[in-house]
Amino acid sequence: MAQLTKLLVANRGEIALRIIRSARLFGLKTVAVYSAADAKSAHVGAADEATAIGPAEAAKSYLDIAAIIAAAKKSRADAIHPGYGFLSERPEFAQAAADAQIVFVGPRPEVMAALGDKVAARRIAVAAGVPVVPGIEIAEIPAAREFAAVAGYPILIKAAAGGGGRGMRVVAEAAQLESALEAAAREAAAAFGDGRIFVEKYLAHPRHIEIQILGDEHGNIVALGERDCSIQRRHQKIIEESPAPGLSSAMRATIIEAALKLASAAHYTNAGTVEFLVEDDNFYFLEVNARLQVEHPVTEMRFGCDLVCEQLRIASGGKVSEPAAPSGAAIECRINAEDPEHDFRPATGTVLHLNVPGGPGVRFDSHMTRGAEVTPWYDGLLGKLVCYGANREEARGRLVNALSEFALLGVTNNAAYLRDIIASEQFRDAKLSTHFIDEFFSQWKISAAEIDAAIVAAAITAGDRQPEGVASRAGAGRRSPWDGLNNFELWGSRR
Ligand code: ADP
Repeated sequence: MAQLTKLLVANRGEIALRIIRSARLFGLKTVAVYSAADAKSAHVGAADEATAIGPAEAAKSYLDIAAIIAAAKKSRADAIHPGYGFLSERPEFAQAAADAQIVFVGPRPEVMAALGDKVAARRIAVAAGVPVVPGIEIAEIPAAREFAAVAGYPILIKAAAGGGGRGMRVVAEAAQLESALEAAAREAAAAFGDGRIFVEKYLAHPRHIEIQILGDEHGNIVALGERDCSIQRRHQKIIEESPAPGLSSAMRATIIEAALKLASAAHYTNAGTVEFLVEDDNFYFLEVNARLQVEHPVTEMRFGCDLVCEQLRIASGGKVSEPAAPSGAAIECRINAEDPEHDFRPATGTVLHLNVPGGPGVRFDSHMTRGAEVTPWYDGLLGKLVCYGANREEARGRLVNALSEFALLGVTNNAAYLRDIIASEQFRDAKLSTHFIDEFFSQWKISAAEIDAAIVAAAITAGDRQPEGVASRAGAGRRSPWDGLNNFELWGSRR
């Protein structure tokens, strides 16, 4: 077993902090890297050492392979954890680490290369006998037209190199097909430097269900159950949970078996996720994410494990632990810097006040602190609030409570939106599909009581008193902070 001593975390934000915490538990020294925009970020202070790697632009810092490898060499790190996003799924990065004799905490570069290409991954799935969404690799427009005529519209155009919900385009009718294919190929070439596209049947009402896997260098591969990530906005997950509500145990077993078959066929090692769409009694392979997922905490809470420690053990040449039997239910939501009332416009700012929820079964993975700056340079994930319960209703109740306690002022965010979704009867009744948001929450507006609460908290933060003449905007019968001002003091106890 390779005895690792020092881990460089090639990432930022909540995931860098998350990895640093586990690395310390695992007995490693840690090295953070940071761009000019992140010099004061929480992950920098949390690590034993930190190295500046470039300007704010990700292309010149967190995506600069040479700069990160140089930082690793300089600090004598013997391992690199890529986190998710940025370079995490780039085989060239894993190869560059290997070339520098640094252990890459992830699959081997050739495995990443094979699975990172959606078309190649589909082929591996087909060869392993795993069902894929009906579709074709296309070289020419007539072939796509023929496929669509047989499969029926709508169809979905995807980029072979796509990811993060980008590079996808739904085509509703034959008349749009030709221009959509051309535009998609152009966009893919511009965004991913690879213009290859393929076409799939666009499933009408699927659920997104994925399997967490762990593989070691000794040929052992295990699955740690499923996650349902159907609640998405523009094909981006916002709420994830485990187990998948209402999934029959037979279906669960079949999907897990398919994921393991595919992972074995690809000689997969380290942590990964095999994603599927499930519709009625059918399931279809979607893609493999060859890295740790944003939503990994729901699995950790149910299995009582630490997936980052597992990754480090595997990277050191150790064997995967046999997973414990899962219990209970866990739900995660992504708190993003965005304005849900204005088309989810990205928000920036300085955190003036932060109230972190607590209590049994509540976990908040975040790099936010009072004074933290949210810049426009990177994705807007402020943190993940995850709740565990003996069953789904308990986890859901805790998450509603936790979101009600949560307050982050100074940066517009979607916490109230998430709370309303998780408190809704549609979510309670698990009416889950990838169209959940379109069906039930496309017209969401923040409640007046919420605005009042924000004003009070902002006033406290700014050291202000209630502005003269400001009346409650909450409707009759609703609790508003303004209504309680007679026993409410901004400056400590009343004398
Ligand atoms: P990315 O790699 O960009 O995240 P995925 O292939 O993982 O793309 O798909 C992301 C989401 O897009 C899925 O969870 C699902 O909501 C939707 N999607 C993808 N393929 C299909 C399909 N064939 N039919 C319906 N929805 C799809």
